[in-house]
Amino acid sequence: MAGNWKMYKTPAQTTQFFERFIPLVAGVTGRDIVIFPPYVDLAAAVAAVAGSKIGVGAQNLFWMKEGAYTGEISAPMIQATGAEWVLIGHSERRQYFGETDETVLKRTIAALEHGLKPVVCVGERLEEREAGNTEKVLLAQFQGGLAGLKPEQFAQVVIAYEPVWAIGTGKTATPEIAEEAHRVIRAEIARKFGAEQASRTRILYGGSVKPENTKALMAQEDIDGVLVGGASLDPASFAAIVNY
Ligand code: PEP
Repeated sequence: MAGNWKMYKTPAQTTQFFERFIPLVAGVTGRDIVIFPPYVDLAAAVAAVAGSKIGVGAQNLFWMKEGAYTGEISAPMIQATGAEWVLIGHSERRQYFGETDETVLKRTIAALEHGLKPVVCVGERLEEREAGNTEKVLLAQFQGGLAGLKPEQFAQVVIAYEPVWAIGTGKTATPEIAEEAHRVIRAEIARKFGAEQASRTRILYGGSVKPENTKALMAQEDIDGVLVGGASLDPASFAAIVNY
């Protein structure tokens, strides 16, 4: 159960969030909870979750270890904050910041080399769905990015299917639409990395997930978790999702 805060919250607001959120999920077992705050909030988030089972991750990274790359943040820097996870290839990164399947692969490899657990996002745009190209787009994103990993690297990856038309729009994919896409992705994992790996890989759904629609999404066979944007900013709302 993952929350992507995008460009919201300061360190002080991060601390306040966890003060309210942690007691609300204290009894949860059998599921991972991870929050992806902005870089500047990572230290506050790591301090706030100490002693709980909640994980913290960054929303992006640059693949070089260090160097003259003004404004960028590397995997070892993220790891040094105590964060354990990293989001890679979010559609907003692809749309506004030139992320491609090739750079997704570079970032994923850098994350793995420095012990960070990547959550790699894929998903089609509205015009691609309307043109009947959803499957083609998902397969191209997989083949151009994740398929370049070695099996032992791929085994560490979590995938998030996020149809771009459902992100921040209030339009959730129906559980059936989401399940269909998850099945396509899992079949492709099986083809490339084998059936056993395919059954083990966690595939999250993301796109206007709310407390009211989580249960129906999670009831689908191939949906293993959710990646939540807007509804993860409020502790009660994200706790209701985690406790679906
Ligand atoms: C996201 O940012 O990954 C996301 C799915 O956003 P939202 O839940 O707001 O649609």
